[in-house]
Amino acid sequence: MKKSVGFVGWRGTVGTVLIKRMLEEKDFKNINPVFFSTSLIGRKNSLIQDIYPDYIKDAYNIFDLKKMDIIITCQGTEYTEKVYFELRKQNWKGYWIDAASSLRMNKDSIIILDPVNNSLIEKSIKKGFKTFVGSNCTVSLMLLALGGLFVKDLIEWISIHTYQAASGSGAKSMLELLQQTGIVFNKISNLIMNSHVLEIEKKVNAIIQSNDFPIENFKAPLAYSLIPWIDKKMKNGQSKEEWKVQAETNKILYRCNNPIRLDATCVRVSSLRCHSQSFLIKLKKDISIPEVENILSSHNPWVKVIPNTIKDTLSYLNPIAVTGTLNIPIGRLRKSIIGSKYLSAFTVGDQLLWGAAEPIRRMLSFLIK
Ligand code: NAP
Repeated sequence: MKKSVGFVGWRGTVGTVLIKRMLEEKDFKNINPVFFSTSLIGRKNSLIQDIYPDYIKDAYNIFDLKKMDIIITCQGTEYTEKVYFELRKQNWKGYWIDAASSLRMNKDSIIILDPVNNSLIEKSIKKGFKTFVGSNCTVSLMLLALGGLFVKDLIEWISIHTYQAASGSGAKSMLELLQQTGIVFNKISNLIMNSHVLEIEKKVNAIIQSNDFPIENFKAPLAYSLIPWIDKKMKNGQSKEEWKVQAETNKILYRCNNPIRLDATCVRVSSLRCHSQSFLIKLKKDISIPEVENILSSHNPWVKVIPNTIKDTLSYLNPIAVTGTLNIPIGRLRKSIIGSKYLSAFTVGDQLLWGAAEPIRRMLSFLIK
């Protein structure tokens, strides 16, 4: 009998990408999908009409949720915290697959990224684990890009700088960035052909710093700027986004007792979609760049080594080239001038695909099998 799978958060940024991928892979034919929402209860929706012609159910109705064999949520932390513990308290024994961060570090949860920790996932299913959580987006993209070096235990530490897209913060934040750029352009477009560029720049700054500039979601202007802070502050001075990098990576690799050191500075930039990261990697031994390229490219089918040329970098190693694809290009590979064991690299990945929706989709297919 087909398993009943409840979907929550399918209308959001991650959820929409998940549904699209599941349609492409024809995953819905293997399940009995039921759609829940916190806002569209009792309505029908064109996005899912073909797979779920029924009325949308209430995502807070524990009675209806308990009928599901599997619940997939891309709704967010607040929802998870309100609903997950209540379901478990009421003895619900189903599988919970989540994109939000709140359950990731729980001892009963497995962080899923199957091209990297497939055997851990399989063992955990056999052992009876029921809670599977997608990892932080930059962590997933970093592990897929550098997977070969991790598997061969060649990494002593990594210093990471991220350039994270607006969509990493959800639908409303994407809309806010578009609104910000639109407001600026509308107010200066008549000046472009007949004013000095620094006069225009002064006007742009005044518009951005005015009190009515929309910053409700980002809390600071993102258009024509950047924000070097993502998520809450931790006691050690890191942001929570930065803290997740070492914690989640070592949990995924099942090496919390012998952690690899990873430190990051996470920065929100005005890309719309796709996160980029630059790495300074201290290798455990001096290996040549061709050997590094070979190790990286043989780890998984999605990682693509980009030659360290201007043309290839501009063509293939940027958010616009990667958006909507499962490709994980890694380039700018060179030995750092600091020393021969120090490797410099840059990667880009679609954080809505491999950074969120795809590991969840694949987890569902493991459970269906
Ligand atoms: P999101 O786009 O903000 O969507 C979450 C929910 O917001 C939707 O399901 C929808 O719920 C509601 N919503 C309100 N206004 C909306 C609008 N204009 N368009 C679409 N939905 C709207 O959040 P998300 O980025 O998908 O993130 C979901 C979870 O995944 C979060 O916990 C996040 O941390 C995690 N995550 C996100 C990313 C990423 O790159 N975005 C990556 C990894 C993990 P109703 O239909 O119930 O109203």
